[in-house]
Amino acid sequence: MKVFTIAMHKDGKLTSASFELISTAKSIGGELITAVLSDNAEPLANELASRGGGKVLAVSHESLKLFNDEIYAKVLSRLLTKWSPDVVLGPASVYGKSLVARLAAKNGYAMASDATGLRIDGDQLVVTRPTYGGSVLSDVVVNDSCGPYFVTVRGKVFSESKDGAGEVVNETVEADAFESKMTVKESRVESGGTVSLNEADVIVSAGRGIKNQDNLQFIADLAKALGGAQGASRAIVDAEWAPYSQQVGQTGKTVNPKLYIAVGISGAIQHLVGMISSGTIVAVNKDKDAPIFNIANYGIVGDAMEIVPALTNKFKAELS
Ligand code: FAD
Repeated sequence: MKVFTIAMHKDGKLTSASFELISTAKSIGGELITAVLSDNAEPLANELASRGGGKVLAVSHESLKLFNDEIYAKVLSRLLTKWSPDVVLGPASVYGKSLVARLAAKNGYAMASDATGLRIDGDQLVVTRPTYGGSVLSDVVVNDSCGPYFVTVRGKVFSESKDGAGEVVNETVEADAFESKMTVKESRVESGGTVSLNEADVIVSAGRGIKNQDNLQFIADLAKALGGAQGASRAIVDAEWAPYSQQVGQTGKTVNPKLYIAVGISGAIQHLVGMISSGTIVAVNKDKDAPIFNIANYGIVGDAMEIVPALTNKFKAELS
């Protein structure tokens, strides 16, 4: 089995998902190839190699500095043709899903998205993925004859690879791969954004129960005290209290932190599908019968505007 992982980077730093993918690949076993594309890929490739990335392919080109699906897909397609892997793994992030789906479609191969488990059964790769809003886990296989199997892997399911062996191979790709109909001119972190939702170990999310936009400060304070990120239900994104980038759920992000605190969120299925696989779920709601309590590990019944500041003070005192 030859497993090919796609490393991603942001602001010149490799994402934690890149190292999680190495662990995922190691869990399958076989030969490991990792690819990293950047304007200056070699330092990133060295880091991947020192953390067990196997054969690390580094492609450097100025047009790879900012993520552009079209160019990334063209360059990776050339590498896939050359290295002929059996499995291609990418992160189930916004960029990862876009890129891996494009790669699979471009080459006419099968894809499974948002995997939470992978195993070998005989000579087949079996991918486990949540379906029906996370209420069912499906095992998905493809026929051997289909060629490489493309999979995006949900973040925070596998731990990051910390060390191991690796070897950097600088790759050059023909110039036409760097041509695109579009130019990505700039990539900006949304103002107020600190920790990315996909990378966060702790997420504190607010819903309509926080009553008004000013009260979001309570959520921001708690998230900061825990070193976490802020999330939101669609109700408050639609009300324009919070940016879309914070929306968790069916039409927002799927997150998988160690701790998810849902404040003033009722627990509609469309929200739950985006956070139900979190490690520990804490819900704060003034309605003891709110559906969110059906899936929460810990529930606090009461007024969010009293409970959240009290939690923040407690955590600040404990963690300082
Ligand atoms: P509400 O359902 O209004 O709940 C507010 C909660 O706050 C209540 O439980 C209430 O008891 C509690 N509360 C009130 N006052 C207080 C207080 N003082 N202290 C503590 N608690 C209090 N939703 C998403 O979140 N993400 C999605 O991606 C998403 N996608 C959708 C896609 C489709 C196709 C559709 C149809 C809907 C989608 N929704 C999504 C919307 C979803 O169905 C719910 O409407 C939404 O999640 C409700 O948000 P909420 O829990 O913040 O608000």
